[in-house]
Amino acid sequence: MSLKTFSYRGLIKLLNPGVAASDKPRRAQHAAAAALGRRTGPHAGWAAHVRVVDLRSDTVTKPGPAMRQAMAEAEVGDDVMGEDPTVNELQKIAAEMLGMEAALFVPTGTMSNLIAVMVHCRERGDEMIVGDLSIYTSMSKEELAGVHSTTVTTLLDGTFDLEQLELKIRHGYPDPHYPRSRLICVENTHNIQGGRVLPLTFLQEVRALADRYGLSVHMDGARVMNAAVALGVPPSTILQNIHTVSVCLSKGLGAPLGTMLAGPKEFISRAVRCRKALGGGMRQAGIVAAAGKLSLLEMVKRLEEDHCNAKTFAQALLDCDPALFGVDMAAVETNIVRFSLQEISPSEFCARMGQVCEGEEAALGQGIQVLMYPHFGNSVRAVWHLGISPEDTQLAIQKMQFVTSQYWKQKAL
Ligand SMILES: *Cc1c(COP(=O)(O)O)cnc(C)c1O
Repeated sequence: MSLKTFSYRGLIKLLNPGVAASDKPRRAQHAAAAALGRRTGPHAGWAAHVRVVDLRSDTVTKPGPAMRQAMAEAEVGDDVMGEDPTVNELQKIAAEMLGMEAALFVPTGTMSNLIAVMVHCRERGDEMIVGDLSIYTSMSKEELAGVHSTTVTTLLDGTFDLEQLELKIRHGYPDPHYPRSRLICVENTHNIQGGRVLPLTFLQEVRALADRYGLSVHMDGARVMNAAVALGVPPSTILQNIHTVSVCLSKGLGAPLGTMLAGPKEFISRAVRCRKALGGGMRQAGIVAAAGKLSLLEMVKRLEEDHCNAKTFAQALLDCDPALFGVDMAAVETNIVRFSLQEISPSEFCARMGQVCEGEEAALGQGIQVLMYPHFGNSVRAVWHLGISPEDTQLAIQKMQFVTSQYWKQKAL
């Protein structure tokens, strides 16, 4: 992310609503000056120009000039009639890359996972088995599709205990006391567990179990491309034991929106019906599919850079002396760093990282705002993406070191 003009008031409000209210007139002046690109007043330098390093999520990426140009020039047609050439091309590219018979362009990952569950679990009362820390595959299934779910414990590395998984499979069907187990859902990389990559052997074992009981396996592969890059294998290798997969184009791959749902031909033709029923049939969708094509063809290879930056930051947390952070380096496999804090609370740490404070400009040469969120289990999550360069990562490290030294200083007083 380059030098940024930003709305100071908006950010302060987001991070600290109380401050924004009391400081409103001054902040408003600075924001107005910043918008005009002028520097005014004693704090003009830091108020108008502060570096912002946004590590909240890889969903904050914006399409660059090449992607916007491809969108502007996209050939389009009515996709609900199957006539959008760019959408058709994207679906063909995705199916090939993922090693699936067919693929479907869907507006969001949430809808894509929902469609998958609806197609796999077609009889009212069918049941799916999903990890207790998967948000997107467990959302809306009961509400919208009448599908039961039962959960297995998500382990630290995103996998399940296979014995527990087997115990959750109902053997009694068609005994009227039991729903029918139909589907196992896995998530790769695992979001809440910090971008963990599911081992290929685990996927093999899940598939063997599914085959034994006649179940299907769906992967919420929102970040499966990150998993492929981390393992150094093509995504089709990860998916060889998976029946269907959902892959987000709008996260690390940088498209403004869109998800690919892929699987057997028969599955995809049913998925088209579900997508329409859910209101996801889009017309001249080639305008966004053009961005998706670049995501798949051009953006996968740069994910390595995100993984590398994430590791650099994690190592810097670990190197802090005296120690303030807990990080498992072996768990930093992709673009997400999840770390715990001793002493200071996650929300206080995030607030300090997000604010430019007194003396910062003198110490660091500029104001740096690093945005990140408190996360599950007294931890903080930071996510790398194409908007964050190695230089931004160094700025985030500088800021983190500044915040920790300020913390110790204040504590010593
Ligand atoms: C982001 C995400 C999704 C889908 O998100 P949308 O915002 O609906 O596109 C699904 N699964 C995981 C693991 C995700 O991180």
